[in-house]
Formats: sequence, C-alpha cells, structure tokens
Amino acid sequence: MAGARAGASSLIKLEAPEIDMETLATVHEPSYIEAIEQFCLAGGGALDPDTLAVSASWEAAKRAAGAGHVAVEYLSAGRADVAFLAVRPPGHHAESARAMGFCLFNNIAVTAQELITKGLRVAIVDWDVHHGNGTQSTFEASPDLLYVSFHQHPFYPGTGSMSDVGVGEGLGTTVNFPFPAGTAGDVYRRAMTEVVHPMLREFAPDWILISAGYDAHVDDPLAGLRLVPADYAEMAGGLAPLVSESRILFFLEGGYNLEAIERSVAATLKGVEGRPVGDARPSLESPTLAHQVVDELAARIAKFS
Ligand SMILES: [Zn+2]
Repeated sequence: MAGARAGASSLIKLEAPEIDMETLATVHEPSYIEAIEQFCLAGGGALDPDTLAVSASWEAAKRAAGAGHVAVEYLSAGRADVAFLAVRPPGHHAESARAMGFCLFNNIAVTAQELITKGLRVAIVDWDVHHGNGTQSTFEASPDLLYVSFHQHPFYPGTGSMSDVGVGEGLGTTVNFPFPAGTAGDVYRRAMTEVVHPMLREFAPDWILISAGYDAHVDDPLAGLRLVPADYAEMAGGLAPLVSESRILFFLEGGYNLEAIERSVAATLKGVEGRPVGDARPSLESPTLAHQVVDELAARIAKFS
C-alpha cells in the first residue's frame, strides 16, 4: 500500500496488516471465512474455474482486506493526501459467501462498511472493466453507499445491467454503465461529467473509494475497451475535488498488462494531484451504442433526483 503527499518524491510505503476476523465478518459470512481458511491451509486448489488459491493465499487475502483500514487511518490523520492499495488478491467480485473472479474477500467493501459503521457516507466508483458484482450485492440495499460501475458488456461476470438501480432503501444508489467493446475515453468522460459528477454532488459522500482495475486499458489482453493512461488521470482528477481533501483511496482490482498498469497507476495518482500526465491522448472514438448508454443513464438518473 502506498500513500503520497506532495508528489511521488514523498511516497510512503506501508505494509498491509492482516484484518481481524470481526471486521471481515461485517461483509463475509463467518462460515465462508472459515471455509476459505481451511481450503487454503489444506494446500488450496481451484475455488472456481478462475479462482485459484494456495496456502499463502490465506495470509495474502487477510492483508489485502486489512489494507484499507490503515489507509483510512493515515488519510484521516492528514499523514497522506491519497492512498493507493496495490494489494493482491483483488476483491470486487467476492460476494458475502462466494469467491469468484480471482477474488477471495471484498477488500473495498470491507473498508466501505467500516466507514459506514462510523456513520459516514461512501461512494464507490468501479472502473475495472468487469462489473463488481460482489460490491453491488453487498450494498444494493444501503442508502449510505453509492455504487457506480463502468464495465464492458456483455462480459464476465454477466451482471451489472442498467436496470439494477438498488433495492429497498438503497433504490437509486446503484448505477451501472454496461459499455460495448470498443468504448473509449470520450464516452467515459461524458459518463463522468454528465452523470457521475452530478450524482456525487447530490449524494455528498464523505469518502470516495475507487475499484481501480486497469483492464479497460487499450493494451489489456483480456478485454476490449480502449482507455489510455490519460483517461485514468482525467477520471481521478475529476473525482478528487468532489470529496474533502485526503478522502480518496484507490484499490487495485484487475489488469493483465503489467506495463499498462504501471503507466496507468502513475497517471491516476498524477491526476489526483492535478499534475500533467504527458501522455498524448489518441483520438479514439466510441461506438454509438456506448453514447446511448450514457444518454439512457442520464435520463434514468433524472427520474430519481
Ligand atoms: Zn477486471
């Protein structure tokens, strides 16, 4: 995990501590936590066709889930401006009692739940190319958490339709942008400025947490979207002013091109600080269908406001 103050020259590196079981159980069922422990300590194997674990995965998963707590402490105390949690395994597919999509525990959900328990309002923006089904299912009935996801559709895990808008008291606090393959930064910019920023201003979160996957990058081998590092910088730079200073943290989710991740993470942090990225933005244009997703979401959101 890293926190930064006044640029990369003052990067603070922190080791993520293991989460305590009580905090983990605010999101995951105790019987599931115990099953993961037993599975890993018995040597591991395949939890599903995508999700493998070895004995060391138990400690890694506990540290990944525990990182957010320390980041929040550092930011709250004014010891860092922004935190980036470079943890593995990722988390946004993990449901209350189900591992999937490389995820064992839902790192961002655990941190969000901790903040909500303190009476704070939290927004999660998920720009991983896959829908964060675990995060959505954890909070879909919560009025205290706004979940926004940009993802490729149709694509794994198949969830995240525009008609998912939250349930019960959480109605209107789930927003999904299912984008077709080929979608690029032009549409992401529109979605942010026309839909997400106005929603965030109205929701007025105390914290913004970002499921920062980098598998929507144009060079990612798994997916078919076309973002470049400058797009991540612009998204991060647009979100940061919507919350008080030092109240934004990024959780690494997916991303399967290491060079693309490296450049995009650097761009993300520069974006938060308003520093130039120096990465020329190619004039990629999204398919018409992608623009229609933004148009439809804008119209639907208007109904709830
Ligand atoms: Zn992903």
